Amino acid sequence: MIMKELQKKDLQYIWHPCSQMKDYEDFPPIVIEKGEGAYLYDFTGHSYLDAVSSWWVNLFGHCNPRINKAIKKQLDQLEHVIFANFSHQPAIELAEKIVDITPPGLNKVFFADNGSSAVEVALKLSFQYHQQAGQHNKTKFVALTDAYHGETVGALSVGDIDLYNKIYKPMLLDTIKVPSPDCFRCPYGQERSSCQAPCFEQMERAVEAKHHEICAVIVEPLVQAAAGMKIYPPQYLSKLRALCNQYKIHLIADEIAVGFGRTGKMFACEHANISPDMICLSKGLTGGYLPLSLAVVTDEIYQAFYCDYKELKAFMHSHSYTGNPLACAAALATLKIFEEDNVLEQNKAKSAQIKELVQSFAHGHPYIGEFRQIGMIGALELVQDKASKEPFSWDKRVGYQIYQKALQEGLLLRPLGNVLYFMPPYIVNDKDIEFMVTKAFRAINQYFNLP
Ligand SMILES: *Cc1c(COP(=O)(O)O)cnc(C)c1O
Repeated sequence: MIMKELQKKDLQYIWHPCSQMKDYEDFPPIVIEKGEGAYLYDFTGHSYLDAVSSWWVNLFGHCNPRINKAIKKQLDQLEHVIFANFSHQPAIELAEKIVDITPPGLNKVFFADNGSSAVEVALKLSFQYHQQAGQHNKTKFVALTDAYHGETVGALSVGDIDLYNKIYKPMLLDTIKVPSPDCFRCPYGQERSSCQAPCFEQMERAVEAKHHEICAVIVEPLVQAAAGMKIYPPQYLSKLRALCNQYKIHLIADEIAVGFGRTGKMFACEHANISPDMICLSKGLTGGYLPLSLAVVTDEIYQAFYCDYKELKAFMHSHSYTGNPLACAAALATLKIFEEDNVLEQNKAKSAQIKELVQSFAHGHPYIGEFRQIGMIGALELVQDKASKEPFSWDKRVGYQIYQKALQEGLLLRPLGNVLYFMPPYIVNDKDIEFMVTKAFRAINQYFNLP
């Protein structure tokens, strides 16, 4: 009863994100009463295994006792304070830790309060850096097709997923888009295992032709997540680092989705052994508790803004909730769990178990075009026809219908078009993993009327 009333009020007052609200007529919002570990519980007593970590943010489960405790402690100390001229211990400790664990050379931490804002910070920093250096023509950003960097106007400009940005194109920045690696349908006929990223030639050509106009290249290292967990080889990143060095262009790594262990290493850039000039972090940073983001940059960039008052070289960017102490405390507790529980090592077995199980179900499956995996990200791409890799047309909403069936099975998946993915919190155990994969395939097979 309480569920129905809440749903009615919800729809009376709330406009939900990333949704066609009309869908909610036959599929009202699931109102969650509580969360515990990898599970969410609604007001009717149904539980859902959160296989998407609540939009990729939750690393160590809902209501994690250690993170809860840290936030409660901070709450009685200081909830928030202006971050210009003022500071606080959680932010200082967090910045020190972040500098320590991010790739070498990233030494200064700029705080913001959500992923898109961190991307805006990075773009503005690069733009301003080049303006101040007298390179007034360097005003453009290079990004990959199928990229996703957030929803604010600057971040959308470097994104390239029609669903999110097509309608806004007239109001977006003019950016240079380079075809992204497409390993599932590789036009170069490469195998994933041996690929040296020949597709990088397209990036090379674009940058060579326009480097006078370019201030930065921004990429999601190794996984274009929102595009459907498109995984590409680390060689692409090594080549990109070298190219950016050659033309003195900033390399911005948007690790908002892949940072904090998702790919099996703390940061995806580590797979290629590179340091970007700036790294954007958010999502898992606070263990999925509170909004917080960081743009971590090199000393070189920081120094270019450091001067007396002859010129206005300061970076005049701020958000009201910049460096919120509660969020910093959550982030510190999250990083402590990484240290204390040897999480990256523990995740290897979990990742292997997911792979083994999925492969046993996917073997010979008529509609699974590919299973791809890196660390704690696993993705199934559905196709109409395995030989031609023909996708299902988007208006069939195959993913959405499987999503609904999975919910009935007690599993929260949230497919991206034809791609179903597993991105569970790192605290899932053997049983959870078995539940997750078994139920996902039950939902898939129900949809296709397969046994
Ligand atoms: C989610 C995401 C963002 C945007 O973060 P928000 O906190 O949702 O604004 C940016 N880049 C990538 C790669 C993301 O996955």
